[in-house]
Amino acid sequence: MPQSMQEVAESILSNRPGSFASLGPAFLTRLPATPVPDPYVVAVSREAAELLGFDARIAEEEPTAFAAYFAGNPTREWPPEALPYAAVYSGHQFGVWAGQLGDGRALTLGEVDRAGARLEVQLKGAGRTPYSRMGDGRAVLRSSIREFLCSEAMHHLGIPTTRSLGVIGSDLPVRRETIETAAIATRIAPSFVRFGNFEHFYANERVDDLKTLADHVIERFYPQCRDADDPYLALLDEVVRRTAELMAQWQGVGFCHGVMNTDNMSILGLTIDYGPFGFMDGFNAHHICNHSDTQGRYSYSRQPQVGYWNLFCLAQALVPLVGAKLPEEGRAERVVEEAQKALERYKTYFAPALEDKMRAKLGLETAREGDDKLANGLLEIMHANRADFTLTFRNLSKLAKADASGDAPVRDFFLDRAAFDAWAVQYRERLAHEPRDDAARAAAMNRVNPKFVLRNHLAEQAIRQANEKDFSEVARLLDLLRRPFDEQPENEAYAGLPPDWASDLEVSCSS
Ligand code: AMP
Ligand code: MG
Repeated sequence: MPQSMQEVAESILSNRPGSFASLGPAFLTRLPATPVPDPYVVAVSREAAELLGFDARIAEEEPTAFAAYFAGNPTREWPPEALPYAAVYSGHQFGVWAGQLGDGRALTLGEVDRAGARLEVQLKGAGRTPYSRMGDGRAVLRSSIREFLCSEAMHHLGIPTTRSLGVIGSDLPVRRETIETAAIATRIAPSFVRFGNFEHFYANERVDDLKTLADHVIERFYPQCRDADDPYLALLDEVVRRTAELMAQWQGVGFCHGVMNTDNMSILGLTIDYGPFGFMDGFNAHHICNHSDTQGRYSYSRQPQVGYWNLFCLAQALVPLVGAKLPEEGRAERVVEEAQKALERYKTYFAPALEDKMRAKLGLETAREGDDKLANGLLEIMHANRADFTLTFRNLSKLAKADASGDAPVRDFFLDRAAFDAWAVQYRERLAHEPRDDAARAAAMNRVNPKFVLRNHLAEQAIRQANEKDFSEVARLLDLLRRPFDEQPENEAYAGLPPDWASDLEVSCSS
């Protein structure tokens, strides 16, 4: 276990055999980060540090060295073969082929190996790369804090996600709509490979590289696919399943990603690339969290469909690898058929995953015909009344099976009280078939319906203070969001509706 910053740095290697970096220059470019002046520690996640095998106290004991290293500043000579790297990928942005993209401001420092479990460590905002296009290679403090807090919050909600070790700030000015300051967020994941990595080699007709990439992903993350009849079809099926499950999870907490371009879709089914994301306050099924998404392509209700659309792009990219064992005659048709079949399974993964999620949110232990209608009925009146997504479900656990004595905390979110009462009658009828008593049901519901999510106004408050060099609110939110299902009565204010000043908060692609 690393005991010092030097040992932490030595544990993160970019030249381990079998790593993504070992795939070579067709897949990535090695280069050092661009240093920032006087980096300082903004926030550190204790759990994420543990994940990397060290104690977060190192950041307190050696703040200067910690900040320098995780800002990408050279703390010692990088041997050329062990330099960080930026990966190349392409992708569809807002439904349109965008050509080559790549890590324009992310650099992977390397991997840690913890008893065989390997994790990549990546800096976001560490300077320009060959894939920066017009960008400056930087990220601002605002977006870095949002990414950091949300990564950790999602993890504690039980939703697959990249993780974040922390945020390092610098007073380096960065131009966005206004002048802001730079920050570097450290991200952690078993792999940062995106659908777009596959699309890249497909679009450039580099089938050998495509195969190398697919074999790497199978070998490292989907070894069960290796022995399948068709490993690449099996890979597609796995990614279809994970993506469908992820979409069900997002829908279940009222999370909108905001930029579901194919280059922001993880091959491991993780939530990745936090930008203009948002947890809904008042429920609007067609909520658009990204101010730049003028058409609402990535609205809440469209996310599952977009997941499917993105998988279609991935399937197309995998087609050249599929069907190697099929007879030449009619192979092309068979391959397309098989890929389509794998894609069609998306529905069979997504629908039951969402139904299970909604059933759990309603506190239903058993499954009965009509449960989906009951859930949709609630969502409809929530939408019509813009009832708070998080608090409606959280307070639903207070409803009594026998009578309306516990209705008020939920009912109060509905301007149309009659609509709620009508739904509550159906709900109680349904609860009558449930074996659990009120207390047991409430306890189970409170384990799936969070009380605390990273509402925009909470992040905004922490960011405003951080811009004044007070990072205490970031730490406080991190701590709060570690236990999103706990009552935390001392933090009641953080569970409440957004204040009036927050009603015009806008988040855009600018980050
Ligand atoms: P995103 O929409 O944030 O996922 O970014 C799309 C593409 O633009 C990716 O290839 C990013 O690496 C790149 N990009 C975004 N912002 C910057 C920036 N400030 N500098 C360089 N590249 C960027
Ligand atoms: Mg991206």
